[in-house]
Amino acid sequence: MSETLLQTDGLTKRFGALTANDEITLGVDRGEIRGLIGPNGSGKTTFFNSLTGFYTPDEGTVTFDGTDITGWESHRIAREGVGRTFQIAAPFGNMTVRQNMLAVQTPKSVDEHERAQEILEFLDIDHIADDDASGMSGGQKKLLGLGRVLMLDPECILLDEPTAGVNPALADRILEHLRELNDRGTTFMIIEHDMDVLKQIVDTVSVLDQGRHIVQGTFEEVSTDDRVREAYLGS
Ligand code: ADP
Repeated sequence: MSETLLQTDGLTKRFGALTANDEITLGVDRGEIRGLIGPNGSGKTTFFNSLTGFYTPDEGTVTFDGTDITGWESHRIAREGVGRTFQIAAPFGNMTVRQNMLAVQTPKSVDEHERAQEILEFLDIDHIADDDASGMSGGQKKLLGLGRVLMLDPECILLDEPTAGVNPALADRILEHLRELNDRGTTFMIIEHDMDVLKQIVDTVSVLDQGRHIVQGTFEEVSTDDRVREAYLGS
């Protein structure tokens, strides 16, 4: 039986007269990989921001693992178990890759050095651990962004375009890492524009259009849905 891990009910975010998220009700099951798609400006990033405390929603609720986390500060949501990466992965410059990992505030009980090393090895970036992070490629920066999120051992990770701008070989490796994490139990929601990538990795897809959640289903169901085609053609 499936169990909902992350749930929004009527989540709404406005910027002045613009309703960027319009009563979004959406549930992600524990252990699934959910894609989040929609035309540019449809509200995907705003949704992530409202879910993770970077924005305060105007209406609606966010529930994670049975706890109402609506309006919590972002660092508290991260500690509760919802990790999040950004479209543009921007590590701290003048710091090594390892120092970037260690800059994440982990709970006191964690041996952060050991965990950082394990994660760097898992992501195959341990060989550059002591190099300056500013010299990394775009794809390596994405891996470091994911690595920093993994320091908090989240149950659920929201990824904003994890493979965008990354060379195909490294993109494949990122997808493999995500699958492996998913096999170990991590739940994902992924904003991804590349339909080939999406098709390879998601269990289900949610579609936003003009701030509203219009369709949910498997990749095949969603990609053949008239409302989805119209949303993309109309933009
Ligand atoms: P997507 O990620 O799907 O491209 P966004 O969530 O970035 O969409 O944007 C949804 C809408 O909200 C857009 O019209 C965008 O211009 C607007 N928007 C997003 N963030 C802000 C902000 N901080 N202030 C004002 N408008 C914003």
